[in-house]
Amino acid sequence: MRAVLVPAYVAAALCAALYALLSWHRRHVTPLAKSLALITSGAALWSLAQAFAAVASPTVAVAATYAMFPGVAMLVAGFHWHITVFTGYGLDRLRRWHALLLIHPVLLTSAVATDPWHHAFFTSVTSHPDGGVTPHFGPLYWVHTLYSYTIIGIGMVRAVAAMRKAVRGHRRVFLIFLVGGLVPAAGNLVSILLLTKDRQLDLTPILFLITASMWWWAERFGTPARRTPVSYKQVIAALRDAVMVLDADGRFLDVNPAAVELLAVLRGCGGSVVGRRWQDVLGPRLASAFAGIDQQTVASADGRTYDVRVVRMPAENGAVVVVRDITELERLRAELTDQAVRDGLTGVYNRRHLTAVLREQVTGSQPLAAVMIDVDHFKAVNDTYGHAVGDEVLIRLAREIGDAVGAAGTVARYGGEEFAILLPGADARTAAGLAEQWRHRCAQITVATPVGPLRATFSAGVAQLEPGENAEDLLRRADRALYAAKERGRDRVVTDGPERLTAVLP
Ligand code: GH3
Ligand code: MG
Ligand code: MG
Repeated sequence: MRAVLVPAYVAAALCAALYALLSWHRRHVTPLAKSLALITSGAALWSLAQAFAAVASPTVAVAATYAMFPGVAMLVAGFHWHITVFTGYGLDRLRRWHALLLIHPVLLTSAVATDPWHHAFFTSVTSHPDGGVTPHFGPLYWVHTLYSYTIIGIGMVRAVAAMRKAVRGHRRVFLIFLVGGLVPAAGNLVSILLLTKDRQLDLTPILFLITASMWWWAERFGTPARRTPVSYKQVIAALRDAVMVLDADGRFLDVNPAAVELLAVLRGCGGSVVGRRWQDVLGPRLASAFAGIDQQTVASADGRTYDVRVVRMPAENGAVVVVRDITELERLRAELTDQAVRDGLTGVYNRRHLTAVLREQVTGSQPLAAVMIDVDHFKAVNDTYGHAVGDEVLIRLAREIGDAVGAAGTVARYGGEEFAILLPGADARTAAGLAEQWRHRCAQITVATPVGPLRATFSAGVAQLEPGENAEDLLRRADRALYAAKERGRDRVVTDGPERLTAVLP
């Protein structure tokens, strides 16, 4: 066993010494270097002393056993220092009271050095005939052990707390840091509890090499929270949404730069708002719009639209208000919504929208008339002048009818060259009169073609909603009237009545 262990101790001592040197070399590069150098120096001393304690003559082995403890003390102090710098917990206290770090090493070294007089650290030491000694520990040793594990325990708790608070990208580093710290602690506990009765077999200094390697990695390649503090504050500062934190009385506790900008626009002037009540800052109109809501769309006086979200924080008795300028978004949304209900060529409503409007209007109590319009001989227009001229005719007619109807009704392209117009509030007679006016207006339209101006006419069928009829019935009857208008020679308006089809003579 010793044949393996002693070279392992020596190799560990050399590696640890090398780590210590490399770390010390980086002391101006990173604040973690000095503590890492202290830890690895302690591990080097401890390992080397272990090697001697395992094989040397009794006198040298006892001296080596004594010499281990300054190394152990360096490790414990270094561990505390390193974890404080790494996590940032208690860093100010450590800077102010750094001399306190020396207390344990001084007391421990004194206790070990004076042991031959009081035997309170080692009760006895067993020498082995083939070299090496095994110490038996007294109360002071256990006090030291208790202290060391308390320090290590506190360090681990701090590392866990820091890991939980860290942004996601840092957590892996903390995990590596934690595992690195736990490995020798676990090994040491095993050697204390199980192996002290026989020859001393303490793997802790070797295991500390694993710690040193992992912590070395964490220092070189990880990003301790302290060095690159990606805090939520920075993230919030980078947001383009205005974020404002309010206390229970509605006073601004904090605002991000976007909020400063927004508040300046809303108030018409800049200046700090922190500490002021938001009702006073925003004025009664906007403040009342925000009051008592969780989410709301608010329009400002200058015509902009804002999405306001209030997230209440019951624990802090305050609220976070997030305001997003959605003016452009709303404009796009309205544009898209409008596009979805319009015909791409003519700009009047499409058939789907007409059907939806009609379904709604047939349930109303007022009279409702529908006019179906179909361009006369449109196929011939296409055939003679081409599709582009045909399109132009459709566009011009649609615009003319749309302008004439205005807000009085709904104009929709029902099919290729067919249009349907709903006139709520109009009876058949009124609708027929209007259709006649549109027919006259449209007849005036001239569309330029290579062979001269073109005029187009249309035929129209009018129907008024009868009691008990549905949307389809109304359109079917208007269509029937349209068919009659075509039959009677086109370029005219025919009304479908309960008994007869009445033509409004041109
Ligand atoms: P009628 O007087 O009996 O209505 O004769 P018409 O030629 O107008 O009748 P028909 O319904 O047979 O012809 C409609 C034509 O409209 C056929 C089609 O090519 C054309 N058309 C349909 N949609 C469009 C379009 O978007 N643009 C153009 N230019 N033509 C279209
Ligand atoms: Mg047609
Ligand atoms: Mg036609």
